[in-house]
Amino acid sequence: MKRPKGIVIAIDGPAGSGKSTVAKLLAKRLGYLYVDTGAMYRCVAFKALRLGMDINDEVMMSHLAQMTDIALQPQNDGSVRVLLDGEDVTEAIRTPEISEASSVVSAHRGVREALTEKQKLMADQGGVVMEGRDVQTVVVPDAEVKIFLTATLEERAKRRWLELKQREIEANYEQVLQELKERDERDSTRSIAPLRKAPDAIEIDTTNMTIDEVVDKIVELALTVKKSLAEC
Ligand code: C5P
Repeated sequence: MKRPKGIVIAIDGPAGSGKSTVAKLLAKRLGYLYVDTGAMYRCVAFKALRLGMDINDEVMMSHLAQMTDIALQPQNDGSVRVLLDGEDVTEAIRTPEISEASSVVSAHRGVREALTEKQKLMADQGGVVMEGRDVQTVVVPDAEVKIFLTATLEERAKRRWLELKQREIEANYEQVLQELKERDERDSTRSIAPLRKAPDAIEIDTTNMTIDEVVDKIVELALTVKKSLAEC
């Protein structure tokens, strides 16, 4: 195996497709590190808004991404804390405002270059489940397992709305659906690293599947790949 700590499982898909939940459980089952690349874009957006910067300013945002220290720190219980310049922002970056702003900052070339470089370094060692929008196409195009998760827009909006409700963040279903639609559009039509399925990725439509069914399916795939690599 070319990576010392194991294979890389790269999972991409639109917001609400189940990526984060699936990737977290998968990492736990395999004893792998969970890398949430979306959290890194959220950190840049969070810092920019807090500093009162213009998130549409490409030069400023690229500079900010280069100057920002982002650490994903695994905990004993399998969860991961997000540290922005040493400060724990795990919960603070999960608001609808930051979702929106992260989608804007992520469209800037310089921001993507800075964060992609950090993500590639994390993947080099292997033993990683990495999820985002461009992991199988740009960050780790040679990942041993590539998954593209989808679900209908309505199902994804329902999941996101329930998640916000659980966290006691006030949200209106129609508004959540509209925001997801706009974010999908921006993420998939941007000129640099748009959200798309790699030709050799396996697409899983999670609309009518349980989380456990999705995780079981990917674990099975991962174990098959690991076995075939060990036999090489
Ligand atoms: O996955 P999450 O919703 O946390 O990502 C927040 C935003 O960050 C996405 O809407 C997307 O614009 C951006 N993103 C990206 N590339 C990634 C991960 C996230 O552009 N690999």
